[in-house]
Amino acid sequence: METLVLNAAYQPVNRVSWQEAFRMVFTGRAEIVETYTDRVIRSAREVFPVPSIVRFVRKVTYVFRGGVKFNRKNLYLRDKGRCQYCGDRVPSNAFDFEHVIPKAQGGRTRWENIVVACIPCNQRKGNRTPSQAGMRLRSKPMRPRFLPGAGSASLIWSEGMPRTWRDYLHSVRYWHVALED
Ligand SMILES: [Zn+2]
Repeated sequence: METLVLNAAYQPVNRVSWQEAFRMVFTGRAEIVETYTDRVIRSAREVFPVPSIVRFVRKVTYVFRGGVKFNRKNLYLRDKGRCQYCGDRVPSNAFDFEHVIPKAQGGRTRWENIVVACIPCNQRKGNRTPSQAGMRLRSKPMRPRFLPGAGSASLIWSEGMPRTWRDYLHSVRYWHVALED
């Protein structure tokens, strides 16, 4: 039996055992958002409903084990939703994967060689490196150690998960298609 953990902004960050969820609540780090209707824990004198969702009461930085998965959603988070050439904000469902060293020149699809770009910048750069195209990157792309709000694939809604989780988990398979080639 697991509990979904949300950050202070109600975004899913992890799933933990119900025992761990109880500890988080009793130590004051988290509050209960939803409980299982059919599961309770009995102590000698009391009956506690088991939390199905808890939420951190304060803003915390959560470090994920195993690194951050390379996928479309996490790339967008790393680059803060901005084109890494012109700095414009780009919609999360309409940005290009920009190979800094183009594939045609041997560039790989890796954290270190991919940035978010708006469509005009991506087209302007074409199959050239930034220096060949006379364009400057705003930051050097790197593999992030952690990202606020970036969960693992297990935070995608799927059948069999508690119904209460559904409102908080995305079902968009699109975000989590593996991208490395
Ligand atoms: Zn741009």
